Amino acid sequence: MTVICRFAPSPTGRLHVGNVRTALMNWLFVRERGGKFILRIDDTDLERSTNEYEEGIKEDLGWLGLNWDHTFNQSHKFPAYEEAAKKLREAGRLYPCYETGEELDRQRKLQRVQGKPPVYNRAALELTDEQIKAYESEGRKPHWRFKLSGKTVKWNDMVRGEQSVDTSSLSDPVLIRGDGSFLYTLPSVVDDIDEKITHVIRGEDHVTNSGAQIEVFQALSDHLPIFAHTPLLVWKDGSPLSKRLGSLSMEELKEQGFEPLAICSLLAKIGTSDAIEVRSSMEALKDEFSFDKIGRAPARFSDDELLLLNGRLLHEMPYDDVKDHLESLNVGGGKDFWNLIRANISKVADAAGWSTVLYSPMPGRIEDEDRAFCIAAANCLPENISDETWGEWTATLKAEQGRKGKGLFMPLRRALTGRDRGPEMGQLLKLLGADKAKARLKGETA
Ligand code: GLU
Repeated sequence: MTVICRFAPSPTGRLHVGNVRTALMNWLFVRERGGKFILRIDDTDLERSTNEYEEGIKEDLGWLGLNWDHTFNQSHKFPAYEEAAKKLREAGRLYPCYETGEELDRQRKLQRVQGKPPVYNRAALELTDEQIKAYESEGRKPHWRFKLSGKTVKWNDMVRGEQSVDTSSLSDPVLIRGDGSFLYTLPSVVDDIDEKITHVIRGEDHVTNSGAQIEVFQALSDHLPIFAHTPLLVWKDGSPLSKRLGSLSMEELKEQGFEPLAICSLLAKIGTSDAIEVRSSMEALKDEFSFDKIGRAPARFSDDELLLLNGRLLHEMPYDDVKDHLESLNVGGGKDFWNLIRANISKVADAAGWSTVLYSPMPGRIEDEDRAFCIAAANCLPENISDETWGEWTATLKAEQGRKGKGLFMPLRRALTGRDRGPEMGQLLKLLGADKAKARLKGETA
């Protein structure tokens, strides 16, 4: 069986870590199985959907490396949804309702007072032709509900195991609004049938929805995908992500300098039995992906963890992979520079600071008690600096100046870089060159 999955965002905003995780799960599963990944743009809500958001979503997915084999827009498929609605009407599964929003609200309030669940009472099924005519002459337009069977729907979920939804506890879902527009439920099922989707992978907020949708599938065709509902993504302290989604959009994370692979690694690993580690390719993430590894608890998203993974990714990143990015930030220095500093940064932009240290004039930072020591160090630094210079030079200083450990190395590091921590000094000294090093050790700007 060829696996066919879809990611179905609504173009009413940019992608954030929550929906990217869903996209990623679909992508990893498909690519691992050599299947087909479809990008479905759920733009039936013509008022809220925009081309800009659609383009933004495609840009974000492209940036993340989540390539698709085929894409289409639901807004181009209204005739197919009309056709399906007709079929449901003919089968007696889609019925017109004339209640206004306020009437339904009132009904629900009454049910609550009576201690009953707020399930639609199906009064519309009892309407006589005269009542319907009366409503229509008032100018009321019907919305259309799908008639659930009242039975229990069962499926074996790839993440949650045996699932059952008692449809008698649900309101018959509205499929078509009074203005004739389609809600998400029917178009989604029609497209999943048309595209022969084999696996529907989405967040667990859709579980109840799946109970109703399975009945719509069954009313329309013999095709029924396998379902996988993944636990929700929450903030690191367990609170909902909803308030932070703006700052967790791909647009924002990209702007903040996070690498797509760090984001994908984190989103692929949190909430699974795998250790949270960064992978240097989507291939590797794909090879390790399995639904068996996904737990039932919510997956916690941590910005600190993302930063950590970003750093780890950069520590291993070859120069060729970062060259263009460095150039776009106007950070020169080349391969030797990158190899020297990459273990000391969390984001590529941090390289700019090290570039300044190495290539821009900077005064040596010297504490009063280290001044004489640094001048002595400057005086015995050879003109030609090789791989061995640092070791030999500090050994000489140790013997002549009676300093060791931190007292020996820290003043040199501070004088040469202005910082207390940083890259390996042997290579740094080589890149810095003797003239600059000597001047900085004397407290001069160089
Ligand atoms: N557009 C729907 C959503 O974003 C798609 C849900 C689904 O995967 O079926 O919630």
